[in-house]
Amino acid sequence: MTTPPRLEVRDLVRRFDGRTVVDGVSLSIESGQVTCLLGPSGCGKSTTLRMIAGVDMQDEGTIHVDGRLVCDTVFRVPPERRSIGLMFQDFALFPHLSVAENIAFGLPRGSAARDRRVDELLERVSLAGFAPKYPHELSGGEQQRVALVRALAPNPRILLMDEPFSGLDERLRDDIRDDTLALLKEEGTAVLLVTHEPHEAMRMADEIALMRAGRIVQSGAPYNIYNAPVDRAAAAFFSDIN
Ligand code: ADP
Ligand code: MG
Repeated sequence: MTTPPRLEVRDLVRRFDGRTVVDGVSLSIESGQVTCLLGPSGCGKSTTLRMIAGVDMQDEGTIHVDGRLVCDTVFRVPPERRSIGLMFQDFALFPHLSVAENIAFGLPRGSAARDRRVDELLERVSLAGFAPKYPHELSGGEQQRVALVRALAPNPRILLMDEPFSGLDERLRDDIRDDTLALLKEEGTAVLLVTHEPHEAMRMADEIALMRAGRIVQSGAPYNIYNAPVDRAAAAFFSDIN
């Protein structure tokens, strides 16, 4: 028997006020794989992610995690029971909690394993010693790393990231992208990363799903898409890559 994909999304549709914003999106991700949902602003990327996370519900289509149905149009597993970690662009740290408390937030209380996991993760992102600090004492890049390990702390099966580097200083971004990718690969998490930047997708993705006006117009390995864009619009989208 073959193992089902970690995440499988089939024919997702979402309409707002009669307007179809996500128009039949299908994709699947294996464990340890980073898939980038890449497309211009407004094409429906965040809406797709929100449905997978379970904070919004689709009008049509299904979502499976490890072969198990988590959502169709009548049945819905709540977000906290999907084993899906989230890192959204406005998903800030809790300001009144320390770094350690932020990371431990989603872990079972009062276990020694909890403290060990927090320490281990802080070390992995070169923030050993930061446990007692508060978010306002950290730089943007440090906050981003804490948000990353907070999302990974409960060992989610899948991590959804929505433009996770957009608030960061341009000069830091590539280093943080590389560090983030290294940690994701070590953890073996299946990742769906949303971005409107072709450069970011080329740098991070095992597979790119190119999205436009609610549909995935092309998907495949980054260099295949870059070298053989499906149409002029796709070529133009990649043309100003830096
Ligand atoms: P992206 O993340 O690719 O920039 P979004 O998924 O955020 O795009 O949005 C796609 C379209 O859906 C946009 O036109 C947006 O205005 C619209 N939209 C998103 N959420 C809602 C909502 N809750 N109600 C109405 N329209 C929405
Ligand atoms: Mg968005």
